Amino acid sequence: MNATYDTVAHNVGNHGAIDEKLLGLHNTFAGRRVNHLGYPYNLEFDAEPISQFAKFLINNLGDPYVGSHYATEVCGLEREVVDWVMRVWDCADPEEYWGSVGASGTEGNLWAMYLARETLGNPVLIHSTEAHYSLPKAAKILRIEALTCETDHTGAICPDALREVVQANRHRCVILALTCGTTMKGAHDDIAFCISVLDQVGVDPSRRFVHVDGALNAMVLPFVDGLPRGIRPSFRHGIDSMSTSGHKMIGTPMPCGVLVVRREHVRRVASTVSYLRSDDTTLMGSRNGHAVLAIWNRLTRLGIAGFRHFARTCIERADGFAGALRSANVPVLLNPCSLTVVFPKPSERLVNEYQLACHGNSAHAIVMPNVNADLIDRFVGDYTAELS
Ligand SMILES: *Cc1c(COP(=O)(O)O)cnc(C)c1O
Repeated sequence: MNATYDTVAHNVGNHGAIDEKLLGLHNTFAGRRVNHLGYPYNLEFDAEPISQFAKFLINNLGDPYVGSHYATEVCGLEREVVDWVMRVWDCADPEEYWGSVGASGTEGNLWAMYLARETLGNPVLIHSTEAHYSLPKAAKILRIEALTCETDHTGAICPDALREVVQANRHRCVILALTCGTTMKGAHDDIAFCISVLDQVGVDPSRRFVHVDGALNAMVLPFVDGLPRGIRPSFRHGIDSMSTSGHKMIGTPMPCGVLVVRREHVRRVASTVSYLRSDDTTLMGSRNGHAVLAIWNRLTRLGIAGFRHFARTCIERADGFAGALRSANVPVLLNPCSLTVVFPKPSERLVNEYQLACHGNSAHAIVMPNVNADLIDRFVGDYTAELS
């Protein structure tokens, strides 16, 4: 603490030193960006059009559909973002749904779990062993009992395992949290099939809440042709909520996320806060308007065609990447329509250089739009050189 304090004290008023420090950091980031392979971040965005807003405090205070007295806000653009995402996720009548732009995919998951608990009373949460850690964390914060369900080797929920857990809890209310693109293996739970398990066991819609965590692939799969129906991230399956991250496939310069929920679930928790002139329907009171601008700028510029292009090229490149490793006899897992290439963990040097995410003896690379053929070739070359 003292070292930091001394540095700060030393820099007070020393603008030259501060500028130098910031420039150094800027150059470090520029260098790290070109080798980045491990996290599902679309780094190919242009922040220029939104940089003019850096001088404003943009706060979407309160409910996106109500707004507040604070006038430097972009709730209108937030509703456009949410409408866009609702169309992509097959919300038949947008009036029946509510959505917001939040701090991250994690906030979306946490808020969905809260709405589910308020809807169901004393439910049990079922999620897979490959679900993101934010789900058990949300359960812990909310004191919801959580049970895990096994996956198969691809990382998707194993239907028999799910049936067993649901059967054992058939008299309870159930929150089922499914994943569209698991963090480590990029697997897609079969949404239609998992819901049919609830139906078969007799956990009817009044006693269940189904959330889909689509942090990465809920912004990939809707743009893929010929997708198996069951894994499509779609409200047509009869799900209650779905979330995605803004800084993953959409591509924003700050972490953020989008959550869409059936409006009835939000009505239940809405209470009016007159000081805000708004409804208290969000976890955060003050909410990041810059993130809304960043997402809106991406969605409106790229359009559906832009995301279709991303999905197609990234899936193709991921296939090529996996093929190149397999040709060198490397055991690879790449799920269908997924961007996540899983392989045995290389040396610490390569893990650090390419910023790979690791789990046990495995590591993964995620082929995002900025991961071009050059970067893949360079990595495959470095990786296979270590094998010989
Ligand atoms: C990244 C991720 C999250 C968390 O999203 P953040 O925006 O980083 O909070 C949740 N679920 C899955 C499957 C993820 O991959």
